[in-house]
Amino acid sequence: MDEKSLKGLKKLALGQQIKYILIFLAIVGFTFFLYWVYHTKTGGKFTDPSGIFFVIMLMVPFIFKVHRRIFELPWEGEVKRVKDPDSSERSSYLSKSYALPFLMKNKGLDVRVVTVATTTRGNRDIILVGDEIGLGDSYYRVGDKVRKFPGLKYPVNYTTDRPEAFCPVCGSFSRLDEDKCYICKHALIDPERKRIIPEKIETE
Ligand SMILES: [Zn+2]
Repeated sequence: MDEKSLKGLKKLALGQQIKYILIFLAIVGFTFFLYWVYHTKTGGKFTDPSGIFFVIMLMVPFIFKVHRRIFELPWEGEVKRVKDPDSSERSSYLSKSYALPFLMKNKGLDVRVVTVATTTRGNRDIILVGDEIGLGDSYYRVGDKVRKFPGLKYPVNYTTDRPEAFCPVCGSFSRLDEDKCYICKHALIDPERKRIIPEKIETE
C-alpha cells in the first residue's frame, strides 16, 4: 500500500474513531443527565430496582459494539476463504448483526463469510450481508491482501483490480473518478484506484 493511501486511510479511520467516541460520550452523558433528573425529582438511587434502567442505558454502546470501533487494534492479512454459509449459520449471523424489525422488513438477505488469516491475530471473519454480497464475490477473493483500520467497518483490499472504488466505512462501491462515497459521503481512499486512474489518463 502506498504512503498516500495509507495516510488517507488513517485519517479516515481516525475521523470514524472520533465519531464513535462522541456517540459513546453522548449516550453516557445523556444517561447521567436522566439519572440526575430522576434523582432530584424522586430521590431514587442508582441502586434502587428502578436503577436497572440506567444500567441498561449504559450498556447500549456495548450492545452496539461502539467500543470495538474505538479500541480495536489494526490488523493485516490474506483472504483464505469466501464462504456461502448454510441456512442455520446464515440466520445466526443475521440475528447477531441485525435487529428483528430490520430482518422482518428485509427478508431473504444473503450472507458471505470472508475468512482472513491475519499476520498477528489468528483468523478473522468478515460478515457481509444483503446488498453487500457483491463485495464477497468481487471485492474479497482468496489470496487478496487486506488491511483493517480501527474505526472502519471493512478491511481495505489493496491487491484487487476491481474497476470500482470501495468505501471501507459503509461497504458500497462508487465510480473510480468519484472523490466521495455516493452512499455515506465519506472520502474514497481506495489504494487500487490511485493506480488505475493514471493509466486511464494516459490513454485519453
Ligand atoms: Zn460509504
